[in-house]
Amino acid sequence: MSKKIHTAQTAPFRWENVPVLAYKEGGGTHFRGVTRQVLFDDGDPGGTQLRYFEIAPGGHSTLERHDHAHSVMILRGMGQALVGHEIHSLETNDLIRVPPQTWHQFRATTDEPLGFLCLVRSERDKPQHPTAGELAALRADGRIGSFVRV
Ligand code: MN
Repeated sequence: MSKKIHTAQTAPFRWENVPVLAYKEGGGTHFRGVTRQVLFDDGDPGGTQLRYFEIAPGGHSTLERHDHAHSVMILRGMGQALVGHEIHSLETNDLIRVPPQTWHQFRATTDEPLGFLCLVRSERDKPQHPTAGELAALRADGRIGSFVRV
């Protein structure tokens, strides 16, 4: 990861020497149409990492929870996010926070990608996926049941 002071944009939502990566290392099937770019990474355990994610039209992120929090700012497009038991409609420049141990999933809702910044601690735990029982409990709320994709 570059420690450059200034990194220029090379195209809309693309930056010099910032590779467009797979959303999750090691792949997986719990998401669709998501890319990841690491914009800043302190690289020390007490530091932070700022990522830019882009969800293609029709795509969605993983339904997951973990001990670390996410601080998110929408940079592009519109979408929806499940955070806990609420589904939030998101517009460009909105802010959304995912508290620790809270189920969350993002999706794009228009024909434009949903792009967002996401700030996390550099040192953080791995995401957990819902068990069959946890998924059934989430789906007991019909609105959540029709929202989630796993
Ligand atoms: Mn997460």
